[in-house]
Parts: sequence; C-alpha cells; structure tokens
Amino acid sequence: MNPYWLEEPVAERVNGRQDGRVDVAIVGAGVTGCSAALRLAEAGLRVRVHDRRAVAEGASGRNGGFALRGGAARYDVARETYGADESRALWRWTEETLDEMEELAGDALHRPGSYRLAADEEERENIRAEYEALHEDGFAADWLDEFPRFHGAIRHHGDGSIQPARFVRRLASRAAAAGAEFREHDPVVDVEQLDAERVLVATDGYGRDLVPELADAIWPARGQVVVSEPLDRVLYDRPHYARQGFDYWQQLPDRRLLLGGFRDVSIMDELTDVEETTPTIQASLERFLGELSGGEARISHRWAGIFALTQDMLPLVGPVPGRDGVWIAAGYSGHGNVMGFGCGSLVADAMLGRAPELLGLFEPERLAA
Ligand SMILES: Cc1cc2nc3c(=O)[nH]c(=O)nc-3n(C[C@H](O)[C@H](O)[C@H](O)COP(=O)(O)OP(=O)(O)OC[C@H]3O[C@@H](n4cnc5c(N)ncnc54)[C@H](O)[C@@H]3O)c2cc1C
Repeated sequence: MNPYWLEEPVAERVNGRQDGRVDVAIVGAGVTGCSAALRLAEAGLRVRVHDRRAVAEGASGRNGGFALRGGAARYDVARETYGADESRALWRWTEETLDEMEELAGDALHRPGSYRLAADEEERENIRAEYEALHEDGFAADWLDEFPRFHGAIRHHGDGSIQPARFVRRLASRAAAAGAEFREHDPVVDVEQLDAERVLVATDGYGRDLVPELADAIWPARGQVVVSEPLDRVLYDRPHYARQGFDYWQQLPDRRLLLGGFRDVSIMDELTDVEETTPTIQASLERFLGELSGGEARISHRWAGIFALTQDMLPLVGPVPGRDGVWIAAGYSGHGNVMGFGCGSLVADAMLGRAPELLGLFEPERLAA
C-alpha cells in the first residue's frame, strides 16, 4: 500500500533548467536535498537534483510526521555525550529550524507540542532526568506526574506534526522557482559521473553504496507505519511517543490514527534497506492500534521506509573525507524531519563558504573508517 502522505495530489512544479555543468549536483530529493537545493539556488548557484524516484518518495514521504526539536538522543544523555555547550547549541538550533520550517510549510505543519511518555518506572526516571536537564538549561517543557496508562510524561512545547510529503514538495517547488533543476526517476550509479563542480549526497538510509568510505558509518534501518480509517472523535491532540521513541502515534487532521515503531520486536531484521512491511511488526502495530483506539479502528494504509542510524546518533554533514568535491548530509537516526531540513541548509551554507558552528559536531571524519 502507498504511504498515506504520498496519496495527496502533486501540485505542478515549474522546473528550473540547467544546461551543462552545474555548480552543485544533489543526489536525493528528500527533505535534505530539497532544503539544500533551495538554499543554494537562492544564493545564485546552478543546482541539479537527481532522484531515482520522485520528490519525497524516500523516507521524507514515508515517516511518522513528527517534527520534534532536539537530537535523537535524550537531552541529558546528549549533554554527557556531546558536551553541555554543544548540546545546548544543538537543541536551540533545532528550535530555530522548526520556526524556519513553519514559515515555509504553510498548512503542512502545525505545532501543538508533543508528549514524551514513560512506559514504566525505569523510563520515568530517564525522562525525568531529561526534563530536569532541559529545565536547567532554560528549555521550555512541563513535567506531568500522571498520565493515563503511562508513568508520567514530558510536555514539549513547540513541537509539531508535519505532512512531510507536502512540505518537501513545497520546498522542491520553491527551489525550482529559484532555478534548481529536478531530474526525477534518474538513478545515480557513480557520483564521479555527474557533470558538476561539487556533489552533495543526500540519500540518508538509501544510498550508502554511493560513498563506500562511509558505508560502515551509515546503518540503514527500516521503520513501519500504519494509518487507520478516520475515527469518529479526537483521542490524541498532538504527537505522542513512548519507549524511547520505539512506539509513536498521532491523530491526523482527518482523525485517522497514524502509528509506527515496534522495531525492537525484531530489531536485527529491521537493520536492513529492504523497503517492505513484515508480518511480525505489522501484528504488533495492529494490536497497539486496537489499544489506542479502543478496538474500533480499521487499517487503511501500511508501509515501510528506510532511514539511517549512526553510532553516536548525530548526522554526518560536510565533505566526505578523502574525496574531492563530494559532500554528504545524512544519518539523522530517525529524527530527519527537522534535522534533515536544518542540515540541508547547513551543508549548503558550508558549500557557500559560510562556516556554521554546528558543523564541528556533525563532521563526517569522526565516523570514517
Ligand atoms: C517509517 C519511518 C518513520 C519516521 N518517522 C520520523 C518522524 O516521525 N520524525 C522524524 O523527524 N523523522 C522520522 N523518520 C526519519 C526521516 O523520515 C528521515 O530521516 C528523513 O526523511 C531523511 O530525509 P532525507 O532527505 O535525508 O532522505 P530521504 O527522504 O530518504 O531521501 C533520499 C532520497 O535519495 C534517493 N536516492 C537514494 N539512492 C539514490 C541513487 N543512487 N540515485 C538517485 N537517488 C537516490 C531516494 O530515492 C530518496 O528519495 C522516519 C523514517 C521512517 C522510515
């Protein structure tokens, strides 16, 4: 079945046209590639985007639609792992990135906040530590000591729910209006063959064979999602997630329930780039849908998508070590809606000779073999 998001009719895009050699060729027309294309084209560079499918048909049109601030790690863990200043800067930057997305997204993004839930006492202690760390560093969040069926929750303000395909298609239209050429259904086999001064690989979990140097640093992982028929009432007014994000659900504007996750049910099987649903995970999702809806919801859509995990849960953004003119922005560890948009702009800024501070944290060199 098709991802729910991609069923929306595609608005016509007036494509940019670039003849001959371009300044930057981008592989991948997801949120990363389209964000970078927009920034580069608006700065006057000649840009061509190649995708073996159509705009947003990778993870950017197959995800859970959560647009959360922060990185993939919990904030308290991030402070210990990446450093206090670095983590504060990272979280602030994702908040600013969400604000920027809101300006571009129109009705593709709304921001009711989100709930991070504790499924048991151990998770309650963990998310309480996250809440305290956020509070100490001045980030808005509320602690909810009680939450129906759960063991407490953090309410994050400003988080969003996004129609990711609509958002990314809009980015592509804007980038095209600024001159970027989009070549859809155009697989790239070898980045060296592209007629471009520089190449940006923006394929997240799908194209790691394009940069073998980083193949061991980018681990493809599969996520599976189901969407129900519309319910007759609103049960969930914002995105919810529990069990360290292994389970996530939200109710869409047409009152359908979207839920995904349960990768941990067969975690080794889900470390794959094969984009197909499996009976084991689908059965878990069906059971959970029954619990969330009180048993009344029928499934209308199921799909799988591939994203990239990294060892430290931070993306790789910058020049590929040892490769002249080849850059990468990928590896959001399941948090690519906001990070992907932000990293697309960040890598474009770096290519334009600006030196965004955060790039130090995302340096590909750190994970290169
Ligand atoms: C099921 C699922 C649920 C998720 N839920 C969330 C969520 O709720 N919130 C969140 O923030 N993140 C979520 N993510 C992660 C998020 O979707 C991704 O991190 C993000 O979309 C990555 O965007 P991207 O543009 O970097 O890559 P993608 O959107 O995957 O785009 C990569 C593109 O590269 C193209 N490509 C690959 N190889 C080639 C090649 N050789 N030649 C030409 N084109 C090529 C692909 O066709 C694809 O279109 C989820 C991911 C999945 C799979």
